[in-house]
Amino acid sequence: MNNKTKDYRCGYVALIGRPNVGKSTLLNHLLGQKLSITSRKPQTTRQHLLGIKTTETEQIIYVDTPGIHENANRAINRYMNRTAISAIESVNVIVFIIEALKWTSEDEAILKRISQSTVPVILAINKVDKLEEKNRLLPFLQECSQKMAFNQVFPISALRDVNLNELEHQVRELLDVSEPSYPEDQITDRSQRFLAAEIIREKLMRQLGQELPYDLTVEIEKFKEEKGCYHINGLIWVERLNQKPIVIGEKGSRLKSVGEQARKDMEKLFDSKIYLELWVKVKEGWANDERALQSLGYKDEL
Ligand code: GDP
Ligand code: MG
Repeated sequence: MNNKTKDYRCGYVALIGRPNVGKSTLLNHLLGQKLSITSRKPQTTRQHLLGIKTTETEQIIYVDTPGIHENANRAINRYMNRTAISAIESVNVIVFIIEALKWTSEDEAILKRISQSTVPVILAINKVDKLEEKNRLLPFLQECSQKMAFNQVFPISALRDVNLNELEHQVRELLDVSEPSYPEDQITDRSQRFLAAEIIREKLMRQLGQELPYDLTVEIEKFKEEKGCYHINGLIWVERLNQKPIVIGEKGSRLKSVGEQARKDMEKLFDSKIYLELWVKVKEGWANDERALQSLGYKDEL
């Protein structure tokens, strides 16, 4: 690198917040690329994922985390909370994301945790595009600003790209002068296998009813590149036998549509032609079984 690296900055930035506030959407819009899966349902993100943004002047390593939530009864839910909380301890900056005009007990619990850490915190008040009564935003913003010594408070819309440049600029100001940690063309720490499984899970989350998505997980059985084409086999694990026909749909229609949508996303992300095959299998109790979780890739790391 040349002399423009003199003031080069680099660091880890955790996106923290309760489920569904828009953490993964924010990551994708900051990166300008869809990397992390999103849906209307809470707890879409189960494992942390790095989104690395490298420019001439900085490398910001965003850590997308599962939403920190209450009532974590099952092993998978405890795992998600653990993952998000460990990110608080190991980053250079925290972006705490909440939803405009909605301050909940889960937000309060997260506030308590991050106010105990010494990491600088930026508060991002998301989904301002949804507000009908815009004049209620300012008092809400003032009220939130009092809750702890935030470095900055930004109203944003992750979905509509409102104020994201300003947010990113402020994040950069809080990073240390440092060489980049990752090669400039690397955008994530996750394998293509992991990303493929997540894309399939996103389509299932979006297409299935309220309950089922929490009972399934996806494993990539085969991932092979052959003659410029990716051959991918995905296994969808459900908890109970009677869930299998729901995922498959009438004459296989649901599985087909999940597969088609997932394939399109994969072709974009991997910039390659994709052959995708999906199967559904039953693994009873996987979501509440620590050992099954490990074998399905839910490992403690970071
Ligand atoms: P996460 O659980 O915090 O990662 O939340 P997601 O990124 O999965 O988003 C949850 C839902 O909120 C999705 O349906 C998003 O489209 C939606 N969403 C996220 N950001 C915004 C925003 O700025 N405005 C609006 N209107 N919706 C948003
Ligand atoms: Mg998410």
